[in-house]
Amino acid sequence: MPISNPKRYTVTAALIYANGPIHIGHLAGCYIPADIYVRYLRSNGKEVAFISGTDEHGVPITIRAKKEGLTPQQVVDKYYTQIDAAFKELGISFDIYSRTSKPVHHETSREIFKDLYDKKVFAEETTEQYFDETAQQFLADRYIVGTCPVCANPNAYGDQCERCGSTLSPLELKDPRSMLSGAKPVLKATKNWYLPLDKMQPQIEEYINGHSEWKTNVFGQCQSWLKDGLKPRAMTRDLDWGISVPLPDTEGKVLYVWFEAPIGYISATKDWLIQKNGSDEGWKKWWQHSEDNPDEETKLVHFIGKDNIVFHCIIFPAMLMAEGNYILADNVPANEFMNLEGDKISTSRNWAVWLHEYLQELPDKQDVLRYVLTANAPETKDSEFTWKDFQTRNNSELVGIYGNFINRAVVLTQKFCDSKVPAAGELQEIDLNVLKELAAFPARIAESMENFRFREALTLIMDLARTGNKYLADTQPWHAIKTDPERVNTILNIALQISATLSIVSEPVLPFTAGKISEQLGLTRKTWQDAGKADLLPAGQPVSEAKLLFEKIEDHIIEKQIQKLHDAKRLNELEGKTVTAIKPEIQFDDFAKMDIRIATILEAENVPKSKKLLKLLVDIGTEKRTVLSGISEHFKAEEIIGKKVLYLANLAPRKMMGMESHGMILMAEDRDGSLAFVQPGKEVWNGGTVN
Ligand SMILES: [Zn+2]
Repeated sequence: MPISNPKRYTVTAALIYANGPIHIGHLAGCYIPADIYVRYLRSNGKEVAFISGTDEHGVPITIRAKKEGLTPQQVVDKYYTQIDAAFKELGISFDIYSRTSKPVHHETSREIFKDLYDKKVFAEETTEQYFDETAQQFLADRYIVGTCPVCANPNAYGDQCERCGSTLSPLELKDPRSMLSGAKPVLKATKNWYLPLDKMQPQIEEYINGHSEWKTNVFGQCQSWLKDGLKPRAMTRDLDWGISVPLPDTEGKVLYVWFEAPIGYISATKDWLIQKNGSDEGWKKWWQHSEDNPDEETKLVHFIGKDNIVFHCIIFPAMLMAEGNYILADNVPANEFMNLEGDKISTSRNWAVWLHEYLQELPDKQDVLRYVLTANAPETKDSEFTWKDFQTRNNSELVGIYGNFINRAVVLTQKFCDSKVPAAGELQEIDLNVLKELAAFPARIAESMENFRFREALTLIMDLARTGNKYLADTQPWHAIKTDPERVNTILNIALQISATLSIVSEPVLPFTAGKISEQLGLTRKTWQDAGKADLLPAGQPVSEAKLLFEKIEDHIIEKQIQKLHDAKRLNELEGKTVTAIKPEIQFDDFAKMDIRIATILEAENVPKSKKLLKLLVDIGTEKRTVLSGISEHFKAEEIIGKKVLYLANLAPRKMMGMESHGMILMAEDRDGSLAFVQPGKEVWNGGTVN
């Protein structure tokens, strides 16, 4: 059952592998929703710990290290620094952004493993695992590739097929090969420790069935695993990068990354307290049952992407249940995936919008990204990011509706009210109605926030801005000023009070903008409880000069981003290209029949009405000849005059576009389809033969 009145909140956002930068899929999947939720809770005066960090173990780290020619430590240091800085700049308000390579994490993970071992939770089993004899190493998870038994993808990983999404074990792969050496692996016996999820199924089922309030996609996925029947899962790996197993005779073994990574939330909490207070004292209240007062529980919420549901809803809770002292997740509001311009976001194919590049290329637009990713968040199903949509939402929603309202309220106050909040006079019906609407908004938005429906919350926030715009349009202070300045004071007082509430309720989504508004208005009452009130800004308080909250994004900025994606796609296509196979064998006589010689291009011009042909005059030593060459899409006529080329002289003349072409210029074709002249390595006279 969900906790109804929690004493405090522990909110975690997924521990991301430190093997690459952050992209918009990560942000939309969990970091922005988590930050919105936490900012909302803080605005309500709740006690919150917002915890995350990088996951620095596991096979993906070592594979990236090999690819970049670095050590695993260098890889995680590089990406930790980059990710941490990018999150800070986007305003993700973690209390701690830790990393699983810290000693406190190693100690905490080993402690929990040892505790479960001592409680005889694990099943110890010796099984046959794939081993690479060349590399002298066991091949865990992604170290092994082979053909997927489900969809025949020839590059499925040992733990998962990325094409069909099946969860696999290495032994299921057909034609397995080692990622390390390419060798065919052999089977070798090794001992590992298994979490007996099969035996724990009744407890896990009880826990999950008690949370039918979870999002449909999360609850449904859990039910389908339970229905299939849970299987024991190895909690150790034969690997040299990770946390060593705290048992004797376990050299060369480490804790399974999905055993220790979620413990990272616990150790990061300790890390936070150590950095803040010099000791981890007090960490238990964030993670364990309260001994003296069971009603004063902590609410634990995990924000993750849908690919991590099994680890956060089944495996991690099972570990904590077995330990016995810990609270379990009260909610796991996992999002689905965000796609990009019609395709799945992919790190390896560079099909992504990278946060660190966005921050550099579109400076001071943090809130625009936060807005667009929230408005379009994959809360119930996969969604899609396009740059056109990004531009439209910025220009017509943020600039056209939200920015426009605040700007008008402030500018009119400067103009008509001497840059001070005017006092409201007698209220008319239209004023009373808008104030009533204003008062109702915070509770409606809160309801959406509490239920992790941030898209809906944002729609309501924009509705409040629309309400403000409509109020100004209906009351027309710019006309009223001519006849009834008192009336204008009332109208602008109300418009400014609406602006103040808009700043408070949009702070979770648009923290930078909310900060700018409250600074302009001199707003000091900023809690959620203040929102909706008609007296947030006292009469006479100065309002500072209107600052632009959002600016229009021009086409060329968007086109540049789209071009960048096209370039990435083109590079990817080239990656898949291979050289053509060799043609059937010929005899020397066949070759000797060809008269290939050196020639110089003397003249070149476009052939009218032809897209491809250039008309060339070449000096071939014995005479000058006219050749039509299909290269005008690759070269401009004037560029190629004077070039030495290879020329096939005895090719029978051909008619093209009503002209006769005599012989042929030999060209080399590059991987991307571009053409190059083939030229002698030193100056050779015209007519020099090629044998
Ligand atoms: Zn497959």
